[in-house]
Amino acid sequence: SLQERLGTVFEGLKGRGALSEKDVDQALREVRLALLEADVALPVVKQFVADVRERAVGQEVTKSVTPGQQVVKIVHDRLTEMLGGEHAEIELTTEPPTPIMLVGLQGSGKTTSTAKLAKYFQDKQRKKVLMASLDVRRPAAQDQLRTLGAQIGVTVLENVQGEPPKAIAKRAKREATLQGYDIVLLDTAGRLAIDDELMNEIVEVRDAAEPAETLLVADSMTGQDAVTTAQKFHEGVGVTGIVLTRVDGDARGGAALSMRAVTGQPIKMMGTGEKVDALEPFHPERIANRILGMGDVVSLVEKAQETVEEEQAEKLRKKVQKGKFDLDDLAQQYRQLQKMGGMQALMKMLPGMGQLGKQMKNLESMVDEKSVNRQIAMIQSMTEQERKRPEIIKASRKRRIAAGSGMTVQDVNKLLKQHQEAQKMMKRASKQSKKGAKGGMPD
Ligand code: GDP
Ligand code: MG
Repeated sequence: SLQERLGTVFEGLKGRGALSEKDVDQALREVRLALLEADVALPVVKQFVADVRERAVGQEVTKSVTPGQQVVKIVHDRLTEMLGGEHAEIELTTEPPTPIMLVGLQGSGKTTSTAKLAKYFQDKQRKKVLMASLDVRRPAAQDQLRTLGAQIGVTVLENVQGEPPKAIAKRAKREATLQGYDIVLLDTAGRLAIDDELMNEIVEVRDAAEPAETLLVADSMTGQDAVTTAQKFHEGVGVTGIVLTRVDGDARGGAALSMRAVTGQPIKMMGTGEKVDALEPFHPERIANRILGMGDVVSLVEKAQETVEEEQAEKLRKKVQKGKFDLDDLAQQYRQLQKMGGMQALMKMLPGMGQLGKQMKNLESMVDEKSVNRQIAMIQSMTEQERKRPEIIKASRKRRIAAGSGMTVQDVNKLLKQHQEAQKMMKRASKQSKKGAKGGMPD
């Protein structure tokens, strides 16, 4: 596994200091192989590796992990990001019914996914769903959808002999509007390979149905081929999302990364089996773990980073208890907030925070996301002495700090006032916690 290979590369090289180019290149050689083994398309691999390299070189190695592990964490985070970061929902229109069209090659899993989606919306979101088969060439395909519909209790639009796909799409939409359906799923015909006839048919259906989502159903096991297919479908009809099927198979999920990269569209759902309930929202992070095959390293590095953060917090706690909280500490807090993106981080670090109720309002304005960068810029424009003893900052120094950070003297004053308030709060909080439960922190 990648883990073992990296283990040998970095044997004995315990973390400390920054990642060197050599560290990174060695690790990335293994990462590159892992990605190729997971069937990620070569151009995507190249681009990805170059990108990670740029991010990784010079980065601090967290205490207690190896450079290799650190690189894997960087790779994992970047993979997750490239896979879309967060889970992307299927978008429903505010005005029902929402038309959703499924496209893809024959055998990719369109009909099955249509039924799975219908069940998903019905069970998980309590939606009223109508399905329609637009596969007029293969009566067996229509029967397949009908059988699945009966199985999950979802209505399937009756097919009329000789009706062309775009007419079925129109009728399905009309029917859905009249009968008060929330969602109408259109299962289109596929081919073994993409040809103009198929593409024209799908474009016609699209223009008739004006789907809110055009979901490309793609088999994760087809590897490199899936990429070309995705590209062609996207160029031809404009895909808005991808349903990745057969994720339950042996494939490591590399197709997901490639498809996302070539279409720029998110993978929204994934099929994990033949049964109608084998459909799950696609979570980029889980697939990133799967591609790398080393979720354990990722959590190890995360834990190590948490420990370092806890150590910093502990240091701060001690300082606060001694009544010291200078502008460096404030800057550090800002950075922490930036990183964690919220109040919780600061609250967790402060003893007795719970009792402070009213002061939270002040704090809230202090940590307004946008202003955080500017606050840090001002603090960075100060000399070390000024940061340690803000009371020495007089008018002329304020002007220089303002100029140095592109802010006004009023902004500097505001920052200093906020620091004073924060300091007061910290003192009070530490007193309260000393009075309160001995030892333990309120949580
Ligand atoms: P279509 O031609 O695109 O409509 O493909 P179908 O929906 O008929 O699916 C083709 C085959 O793939 C069927 O045997 C399905 O049971 C199977 N299939 C579809 N999705 C999945 C999946 O996520 N996992 C597995 N293991 N099989 C699937
Ligand atoms: Mg089908």
